[in-house]
Amino acid sequence: MNMAILHHQQSHYYSINFSPTHHSSSLTKKRSLSYKYKFPATGNRMARSSSVSDDDKVFDVVIVGAGIIGLSVARQFLMDSDLSVAIIDKGVPCSGATGAGQGYLWMTHKTPGSPTWDLSMRSHQLWTTMADNLQAQGLDPMVELGWKKTGSLLVGRTRAESDMLQARAKQLSEAGLIAEYLSSSDLSKREPDLLVDNDTSAAFLPDDCQLDAHRTVAYIEKGNRNFASKGRYAEFYDDPVKCFIRSDSNGDVEAVQTSKTTLYSKKAIIVAAGCWTGSLMKDLFRNWGMEFHVPVRPRKGHLLALQNFNSLRLNHGLMEAGSSREFAGFNTDLDESVINHIWKRVGEYFPKLRSLSISDLCETRKVRIGLRPYMPDGKPVIGLVPGFSNVYLAAGHEGGGLSMALGTAEMVVDVVLGRPGNVNSTPFNVDRVIE
Ligand SMILES: Cc1cc2nc3c(=O)[nH]c(=O)nc-3n(C[C@H](O)[C@H](O)[C@H](O)COP(=O)(O)OP(=O)(O)OC[C@H]3O[C@@H](n4cnc5c(N)ncnc54)[C@H](O)[C@@H]3O)c2cc1C
Repeated sequence: MNMAILHHQQSHYYSINFSPTHHSSSLTKKRSLSYKYKFPATGNRMARSSSVSDDDKVFDVVIVGAGIIGLSVARQFLMDSDLSVAIIDKGVPCSGATGAGQGYLWMTHKTPGSPTWDLSMRSHQLWTTMADNLQAQGLDPMVELGWKKTGSLLVGRTRAESDMLQARAKQLSEAGLIAEYLSSSDLSKREPDLLVDNDTSAAFLPDDCQLDAHRTVAYIEKGNRNFASKGRYAEFYDDPVKCFIRSDSNGDVEAVQTSKTTLYSKKAIIVAAGCWTGSLMKDLFRNWGMEFHVPVRPRKGHLLALQNFNSLRLNHGLMEAGSSREFAGFNTDLDESVINHIWKRVGEYFPKLRSLSISDLCETRKVRIGLRPYMPDGKPVIGLVPGFSNVYLAAGHEGGGLSMALGTAEMVVDVVLGRPGNVNSTPFNVDRVIE
């Protein structure tokens, strides 16, 4: 069971998760680039530029950022078109927010009719299809993706929150999901270790799922790499993007310059650099004397994971608690006071754990820290950068990037290829945020 507690401000959730151990250390290790670049068989040199040298590489699509968004976009282009794709990262795929993500694919706190509702629903459907397809191939989605149908429980502690949860369960049911309102007695029966008083209640969605970000990233990368032998895919890791190169003739961006190489793009450049998207775009455009401000900000999160945790059993095995949300710039240092606060909050809901000090658990604990790409209006920014014909953004998913990744990838590919999409992309357009 995955569980979140309503905060007084309704938009904030505190989540506690008890789930089987499946985070393999070999998957979470930092990897260096293991896949060598191969020249795309279909990649024609760009006739336009006499400055293109033999060391430069030409791809249809160049993606900046190999987090869950960039990798999913790469996957979608590879599977859904015949275009060649290069993906660049200043580190490795799980070094950004993706590596810290809890992996909840939740609809509990999405509002039917809101702009992210359709995107989340579509994404949920695509993730479920991916898990089903694995099963149909005789593979275990739990092994490949860390996939679990955990269900989700959103808990409130006051009368007002109880009313809100009741309305939420009704609204989600009317929107076609299986959603139940649990009164305090129903909740006690379901989670006997949870502190429940007369005013405590919950919304329960049995179909909500969870994936493991590291396993899922490894699975997507493996699939993408199958296209490398056909000359359609290459990864450039540990290689930060330094600048864009513009065409003299039409002013479009024709190439991406990294610290080690130049990658030419024939069709599209997708910037999926998570919380770094704003600062990166600003720097890239400043080189041309242009101001470009995307208001994506890093929102830091601490996640506490306890391996082999036996003091409380809901689903048991690995316990994850958190995650915190704070604006602290690009700082990713561990703050023990945040961990202590998370642990204190856990004790408020699970009295059995109050006698356990977090310092007693240092042997088995692991803290994951990541910077969520926060957008002030709560929506990711997906689409063409105004003034250019080939530069696109796909960023700003804050605390929902894992859950929205596959829907976002489909949307990006549809927009680039000029196809009608499953989900209306207009609410996510870039021009809404350009200042
Ligand atoms: C503690 C925590 C818990 C979370 N829990 C959930 C959850 O339960 N469910 C959910 O859906 N989401 C969750 N999230 C949010 C989710 O992890 C993010 O929304 C998602 O990972 C964002 O993916 P991304 O690809 O946009 O960004 P990132 O994963 O940050 O990837 C961006 C990449 O861009 C690269 N980059 C940056 N600058 C450059 C450059 N100059 N050159 C080249 N590469 C560059 C970075 O190295 C990075 O790898 C959580 C996040 C945190 C921190």
